[in-house]
Amino acid sequence: MTPSSLIPFFPLGDMNRTLREPLHKALDRVLDSGWFILGPELEAFESEFAALCETQHCVGVGNGLEALRLLLQASGIGPGDEVIVPSHTFIATWLAVSACGATPVPVEPCPDTFTLDPARTEDAITPRTRVLMPVHLYGQPADMDPLNNLARRHGLLVIEDAAQAQGALYKGRRVGSLGHAAATSFYPAKNIGALGDGGAVVTNDAELAARVRKLRNYGSEVKYRHEIPGGCNSRLDELQAAFLRVKLPSLEADNARRQALATRYTKALAPWAGPALTLPFVAEDRCSVWHLYVIRTPHRKALRAALTKAGIDTAVHYPTPVHKQLCYPEFAGLRLPLADRMADEVLSLPLSPMMTEDDVDRVVQTVQAFLRPLMR
Ligand SMILES: *Cc1c(COP(=O)(O)O)cnc(C)c1O
Repeated sequence: MTPSSLIPFFPLGDMNRTLREPLHKALDRVLDSGWFILGPELEAFESEFAALCETQHCVGVGNGLEALRLLLQASGIGPGDEVIVPSHTFIATWLAVSACGATPVPVEPCPDTFTLDPARTEDAITPRTRVLMPVHLYGQPADMDPLNNLARRHGLLVIEDAAQAQGALYKGRRVGSLGHAAATSFYPAKNIGALGDGGAVVTNDAELAARVRKLRNYGSEVKYRHEIPGGCNSRLDELQAAFLRVKLPSLEADNARRQALATRYTKALAPWAGPALTLPFVAEDRCSVWHLYVIRTPHRKALRAALTKAGIDTAVHYPTPVHKQLCYPEFAGLRLPLADRMADEVLSLPLSPMMTEDDVDRVVQTVQAFLRPLMR
């Protein structure tokens, strides 16, 4: 490696090219079968992914947003219902609620883990609340036990948004199996990504799984028999399912590699933590799969510029808090200071299973060189 070489944020093309041969084989298999929708590849992937999530059922759908929306719809959520969502998340979490005609009720995160705060969640529960929707943000599971206890006490459902945390653990249990049901996404840049769009619902609730199975397919499970008003067609296709079957076996190793690199970042940057730098924190009872390595700094713009100058790509997840998006004028006046602060200060450093230790060290050195004058 030359010192001037670029460190991409996430080398998506390279990641997929390491699997060129098996991906080509998968393509040939589907091409030869002549079967492209709702076939054996999807069925096999659904059982393989359910096994990973330690759930009994998996239903492949078109993308992560649809997985969330169909789960809410299948749970009977609609106008007049409230769904508690994190104030700091990717907008899809809220959009799924709005798409059902229900109202997203944002709750601020725990300031250390960035995930839904159970204490504030309790304060936000009203007689209209039907669902708690924690997000396992950046790869770290939300604090599920207190959320599940709240749900039990108030008769609510818990639906996990697990799009960023495939394979992560909470108290030794898999994300996806921690609430009533979970939605995930196979968007190409997720920890397990398709070569296109994809998503899935996982659950131990057989009836709920059956309803999602119908809803994803015009409200029908048996051809030309339409039992429920579906109004939707959202299926994980055979080609993407076949590609995902190629990628699933390396998920654990990829996640382990992410964990090793994240640990390296944290060890090297820990002495520099302070007012100018907050490092990501993972609670002791959780195992993050490090979808992203997100630091916080009030000097984000300048630090980003310094990293760019050194040939290091970064990203911001996410620059505008959801309540300030133009599509949500009804939330514009809300006071959500933590979400605002996250949006101002978060910075995602490059992290991918393909990164080398030397790459991490170079990022670390650039961050240190930037912070040195600020720490005097
Ligand atoms: C990516 C993502 C989604 C949506 O997934 P798509 O497949 O892009 O629709 C939902 N929630 C979170 C937290 C995500 O990161």
